Amino acid sequence: MQAAALTDVGRVRQVNEDACLADSAHGLFIVSDGMGGAQAGELASQIVVRVLPELIEQQLARVKAMTAGAIRGGMQNAVADLSRHLREETAGRLGLAGMGATVVAMLVRGRFAHIVHLGDSRAYRLRDGKLQQLTEDHSVVGILLRAGEITPAEARDHPARGRLSRFVGMEGDASPDVCTVPARPGDRFLLCTDGLTGMVDAGGITRLLLGHDEPEAACRALIEVANQAGGHDNSTVIVARFDGPG
Ligand code: MG
Repeated sequence: MQAAALTDVGRVRQVNEDACLADSAHGLFIVSDGMGGAQAGELASQIVVRVLPELIEQQLARVKAMTAGAIRGGMQNAVADLSRHLREETAGRLGLAGMGATVVAMLVRGRFAHIVHLGDSRAYRLRDGKLQQLTEDHSVVGILLRAGEITPAEARDHPARGRLSRFVGMEGDASPDVCTVPARPGDRFLLCTDGLTGMVDAGGITRLLLGHDEPEAACRALIEVANQAGGHDNSTVIVARFDGPG
């Protein structure tokens, strides 16, 4: 796995509340977008990338046979634990009310990529020149779109834009979505926050990935285009190229 990660504050915000981790040696990649007032957003996404690797490791240590189902279950449990951890961390602490974060995490084992997420940070796979979105946004607008109640054009400036239906640190039990997709040599995976996808559509992302084969160059190009389009939010990208099971 060859991977690169890049995060940028954008053109409008003062603070970068996104965080990311790319650990090629362990095949683990995480992107998180924090939210909440004062420093809460920054803190939330930092907790996600710091704590989640340990939680995943703990879960997988209990697994007897590393089947895809067992890995998915472990990742799901790890993110549910993470959500509880974040909520407990904020309980009763002044200034941290409303603290939460998105998470999208990918673990590559053998010829498979296992992806877990909460919120509207996304995972994509580029294969044979085609970009496939692997996650469904846990957002109010995403739910309305999938139900056919609003059009993609209406979604762009919907009043509920940005409101998440599920996230790390939410009240009650977070139920993360998890999926497994096969990886073939040459496949490229992209994990990103909404700072990218709010500014660049799927066609634009496809063209940029096709135009930049090296993960590092692709990351730079994606962030640059998000900023050229206005850079309204922090943007974070991880591009990982699968070269074969390591
Ligand atoms: Mg964002």
